[in-house]
Amino acid sequence: MSHVPQPAEATAATASTAFRSALEVIRGVEPRVADAIGQELADQREMLKLIASENYASPATLLTMGNWFSDKYAEGTIGRRFYAGCRNVDTVEALAAEHARELFGAQHAYAQPHSGIDANLVAFWAVLAQRVEAPALERAGARQVNDLTEQDWETLRRDLGNQRMLGMSLDAGGHLTHGFRPNISGKMFNQRSYGTDPETGLLDYEALRATARDFRPMIIVAGYSAYPRLVNFRIMREIADEVGATLMVDMAHFAGLVAGKVLTGDFDPVPHAQIVTTTTHKSLRGPRGGMVLCDSSLADQVDRGCPMVLGGPLPHVMAAKAVALAEARQDSFRDYAQRVVDNARALAEGLMRRGATLVTGGTDNHLNLIDVASSYGLTGRQAEAALLASGIVTNRNAIPADPNGAWYTSGIRIGTPALTTRGLGTGEMDEIAGLIDTVLSATQPGTTKKGIPSKAQHVLEEKTADEVSQRATDLLSGFPLYPGIDLS
Ligand code: PLP
Repeated sequence: MSHVPQPAEATAATASTAFRSALEVIRGVEPRVADAIGQELADQREMLKLIASENYASPATLLTMGNWFSDKYAEGTIGRRFYAGCRNVDTVEALAAEHARELFGAQHAYAQPHSGIDANLVAFWAVLAQRVEAPALERAGARQVNDLTEQDWETLRRDLGNQRMLGMSLDAGGHLTHGFRPNISGKMFNQRSYGTDPETGLLDYEALRATARDFRPMIIVAGYSAYPRLVNFRIMREIADEVGATLMVDMAHFAGLVAGKVLTGDFDPVPHAQIVTTTTHKSLRGPRGGMVLCDSSLADQVDRGCPMVLGGPLPHVMAAKAVALAEARQDSFRDYAQRVVDNARALAEGLMRRGATLVTGGTDNHLNLIDVASSYGLTGRQAEAALLASGIVTNRNAIPADPNGAWYTSGIRIGTPALTTRGLGTGEMDEIAGLIDTVLSATQPGTTKKGIPSKAQHVLEEKTADEVSQRATDLLSGFPLYPGIDLS
């Protein structure tokens, strides 16, 4: 039973013909690209994909991206473009925004960001425009920045670049775009981090409140890439209000769980945050891209994403966002989202039963973080490589106060959105927990060529890796990816 949206066998057969024809056309120009596309499907079919930020988009979503919308420039907003001839782009962008508003219950939606990082930049600058730029213009009696004197402009530029932001620390599961120095957000803002309780690994709202009172940020960012628990956005908003901050939630990872109504009430960010950003390609299962949702007070500023941060939008991707969001509005998506969480729990229980230590002792969402250092005496890098050699694709990830740093790490992050799309259920998750435990228990830290202990090298008998690989392949053979699509 597959949960890749496939309304009927006839649809799969039609999609198969479409993909085959497309490859034939591409092969006529650059056969190596056609081969790589075909090989990618073969690889994805073989992989036991546990990367928490990946998924499998539907054939309809994929096919929507390969057309002449790609050729169009459409800077501006719906019905108000800097280029002529945008009526069809208007149609698809308006549909994407309408589906997003309806699906998430948002007052406003902006479908242009090309990625999650772009969505976050749009959101930061929308808040800065609302809270720093607009009052400065008003004080100067200017309508727009070009009307300011050189001196007023210099003052405004300094003010825009000198605001405070409070975001979740990277090792507690936050994202680079939440104010960290290697990312532009860390260069734009004076950032401080909040973390998790060292004992429980859970978000410590009272510590966060105390930091917010002391630091008085303009923006509090909630949301994560590697936190396996729920976040209470009602409390986050209460803290933000108390210190006069705008609450921004980056739901890139868990947007599918919000869309599928698994995260509701205090755990749904949309009613609580003034501005919410997301990617569309992770648990939401759409095309690669980003999106911003906001309340009406920020709508005009968000719509200035182009030219503020973005260039021309990607109309073919906005069209695919509209298709994927239409899919996410179907009842079957709720079922999917619930299965994602059920599967993550089953994986957690299977791992813990076999002796693995999980950060926070389990999960409430789509991901788990295994502490491979304390469970198996490995770095994340060693564990990731050993699992890959055994046909299991994961990524290493820092854990709170990680002694091995952000490169080698002590954690492995695993998520269930992709395998759930493929149709695997809780029984299979237990088997996968067994495979992971078998590999990690059989893996030893390695040494360099000179015999010095290495955080990168691992030792795993080929026989074990091959056996696990075969078991993974056998398991997946019962859950064909894109059934009915045959490129041969
Ligand atoms: N925000 C969060 C929480 C993420 O996890 C990610 C990506 O992993 C991003 C933003 C950035 O998304 P993108 O890779 O589409 O720029």
